[in-house]
Amino acid sequence: MAERRDVVIIGAGAAGMMCAIEAGRRGRRVLVLDHAKAPGEKIRISGGGRCNFTNIHAGPKNFLSANPHFAKSALARYTPRDFLDLVERHRIAWHEKTLGQLFCDNSAKDIIAMLLAEMKAAGVELRLSTAIGDIDHDGTSFRISTEQGAIEAASLVVATGGKSIPKMGATGFAYRIAEQFGLPVIETRAGLVPLMLDPATLAAHEGLPGIAVDVAARHGKTAFWEAALFTHRGLSGPAILQISSYWREGEEIGLHIRPDLDFAAIIAAARRQNGRQAVQTVLAEHIPKKLAQLVVTDLGIDGPLAELSGKRIDALVQRLRDWRFRPPASEGYRTAEVTLGGVDTAALDSRSMAAKAVPGLYFIGEAVDVTGWLGGYNFQWAWASGHAAGQEA
Ligand code: FAD
Repeated sequence: MAERRDVVIIGAGAAGMMCAIEAGRRGRRVLVLDHAKAPGEKIRISGGGRCNFTNIHAGPKNFLSANPHFAKSALARYTPRDFLDLVERHRIAWHEKTLGQLFCDNSAKDIIAMLLAEMKAAGVELRLSTAIGDIDHDGTSFRISTEQGAIEAASLVVATGGKSIPKMGATGFAYRIAEQFGLPVIETRAGLVPLMLDPATLAAHEGLPGIAVDVAARHGKTAFWEAALFTHRGLSGPAILQISSYWREGEEIGLHIRPDLDFAAIIAAARRQNGRQAVQTVLAEHIPKKLAQLVVTDLGIDGPLAELSGKRIDALVQRLRDWRFRPPASEGYRTAEVTLGGVDTAALDSRSMAAKAVPGLYFIGEAVDVTGWLGGYNFQWAWASGHAAGQEA
């Protein structure tokens, strides 16, 4: 005899736990299954251990999806303020770091403890270290096979996330289940991920690794103004992670170094003041010294400012305004913070996350083709989509 529950949720991550709390509060008998030893492992490591749990400015514009309108309903019905109320009720100290990003003062573990306490209060059962086998559906209920026996439920919520960081237990499980039930899946790729540079570019810019500088990283019409970091493998830092979600293999990105500054005016003023100084000395007042040196050497610029031709100065200003790179690849799922693509939103109801063609089946969180920018947006989607499904499952 199989055990029976009203709702089985596979995946005890951010989305699955939020969904369990909401469904449990409605009096549903909820069981959460996860193959990991501990719940919320990605919450634990997020935000450098302090969890950037939401962004006060989160709105549909901060998400990538084949259907940019899909996320609107769920995001409107569970807002950053709603999650913040929960955090404050649990007396978790928090602060805004920058750009609306809210972090725990102490530890991301506070968020996991809060979700577990809420699950307990809502009567939710959590079963960890449970490998999931086949899933069958007879038209009215789902039968989930596990090593410890089968469970039957009227509602099945798939909250197993994306493919990022396989070392932490990420699998393509959600896509496999979607395909089993005939739901389309938008091609997945790594997002919020460092970009590699080819060996020739790295060799030509030997001094770059370790340099951090404010840039506007651009791809097509999209640009993010944040810090970039040059590494031994290529490019990283928030600006690069952000633009990586818009970039595809083989395409170019452009870096505008210190977009707050007018380097043409700075150089012209320095030339009037003291034409004997070297241009890198002037640049080094505004950007890291090593970077100033490298850009100047790269362009073959030498000698005092007064002797530089207008053409040379233009080339230098242009390089700082639009330094092009063509990364051959990203670092991939190994280090990506999120997975772009996923279960096609066209197959889901935007109010409840239910599969339109399969009554009782839901997909939430990162498994769905809704991916946020860096800065707390991905957790806000996990909370909002989990909340939406928890209201109905
Ligand atoms: P997950 O949190 O990935 O949870 C999925 C769960 O399903 C896991 O517990 C997993 O063990 C389980 N599972 C998977 N496959 C199976 C299976 N086959 N059987 C059983 N169980 C399974 N976002 C932010 O908004 N702010 C941040 O500060 C932030 N920092 C991040 C830092 C890092 C290093 C990474 C990798 C991501 C970060 N993110 C951040 C992104 C965020 O963690 C995810 O978007 C979010 O966790 C997605 O929630 P989810 O519940 O959909 O999936």
